Amino acid sequence: MSASRAYFWFRILVVALTLFALLGHYYLPKKTWLVVPNDANQVGLGSDSESGGLSRAQFVSEDKYSSLCKYRISSLEYSYCGVTFSLGSGIDDGRDFSSFYSLRVHLNYRGPAKRMRMFMRNYNPVFSNTEDQNTSKFLSLLLRTQDLDEPIDILLSGFTVADWWLANLNLPRELSGPNFDNVTVLGFDYLDEGDHFLDVERIEFVGNWIDTEKLLLGIIFCWVLLILVESFIRLYVLHKKNKYSNQLLHELAGNYSRLEIEKQAVEDRSKRDALTGLYNRFGLMTEVSKLFSNSEQKINTSLILIDVDHFKRINDTRGHDIGDAVLSALGNILLQSVRQGDYLARWGGEEFVLVCKETSYENALRTAEKLRDRVARQAFALGDGRLVVNISLGVATVKEDDSFETALKRADEALYLAKASGRNCVMSELDIAR
Ligand code: GH3
Ligand code: MG
Ligand code: MG
Repeated sequence: MSASRAYFWFRILVVALTLFALLGHYYLPKKTWLVVPNDANQVGLGSDSESGGLSRAQFVSEDKYSSLCKYRISSLEYSYCGVTFSLGSGIDDGRDFSSFYSLRVHLNYRGPAKRMRMFMRNYNPVFSNTEDQNTSKFLSLLLRTQDLDEPIDILLSGFTVADWWLANLNLPRELSGPNFDNVTVLGFDYLDEGDHFLDVERIEFVGNWIDTEKLLLGIIFCWVLLILVESFIRLYVLHKKNKYSNQLLHELAGNYSRLEIEKQAVEDRSKRDALTGLYNRFGLMTEVSKLFSNSEQKINTSLILIDVDHFKRINDTRGHDIGDAVLSALGNILLQSVRQGDYLARWGGEEFVLVCKETSYENALRTAEKLRDRVARQAFALGDGRLVVNISLGVATVKEDDSFETALKRADEALYLAKASGRNCVMSELDIAR
């Protein structure tokens, strides 16, 4: 499986997990903590009889969860009768229910009261002390007795801190709210006089194993992390690809310029004669066609056709290789004798053409004579000896209605005349007419 395909399935898995966590956590079994029945918790009866009041509390039969409170309001400051369940081992020892959100309560009540009070005490060492249980925060709410007999759910957010308790302790605002982080006691008492029978069947705290807010934050955090990591990876891959593309482009550009150079070299070679290195016919025609496309330049041009005298003899007496060497050396001499801008070509066999730009008839004649003279004076060193080679030359100047071919034809006729006149000489188109 490719990496991108694996990542696709990974993304699907993460989306599925997210949906599962979002929806699934509502259906998770709840976290519960049993207050009643629970033998670990002590049940206590309390009334004002200890301080001389008229109220009396007692268990009914053997069942410690069934109690009878005969509540009578007396002249005492506080009349009181109720039942309590201790959740820890002392006044300061409670349980932390801050991660729970409700109480499930099942009570059976018989008596005259329309409402009864449910309360909790939460010990906080900042303001509570073990000498006086009244310093533990008093949280309460009222229950309608008509709602009892069936299990009911009571939200912890329904509990409020009693005003009289707040007034007694005079706490700053930040300490005055409801807390459930160290609940030491949970209980019931009464507001109305009468004989109140209460059977507590069940009390349990209910909460979620996972806090929804934390879960959502966790999921958001995971997604942000995933997206960040993915972005970085994408950026990195893009950077890599970009680098690779640039490298490729660079290589291609290198290859292209190498090819250009090679193409140029091949083109140059195709214009050159292999033996002498001078222009060949194709090369000369390429240059001349540029020159002849400008009529101004054309009419200032002269052509000199050069042919080696009795070259066949050299081949015949010295061999073809010596013939080649003579042609090569001759090409060199001619090239060194002409001007920079002129075109010198091997036209074929032992024939050469010199195209002289910006050269009048007279100057062309002078040039031709100079070449003839230089070659005639040159002794060609050829391994075992020296050889004198002569050339004949025909000169023509390009006219307005000339093409290269027509002008060259006149130069050829002049050359023919030079040959006929005994060779090793220069003839021009004007000599033909005479
Ligand atoms: P002419 O003075 O009338 O020009 O006499 P020529 O012998 O020079 O003329 P011809 O046309 O009879 O002979 C030219 C010879 O040049 C014939 C051919 O074998 C030889 N030749 C042509 N190309 C080459 C070449 O590339 N190398 C060699 N060694 N000889 C060549
Ligand atoms: Mg010839
Ligand atoms: Mg010849």
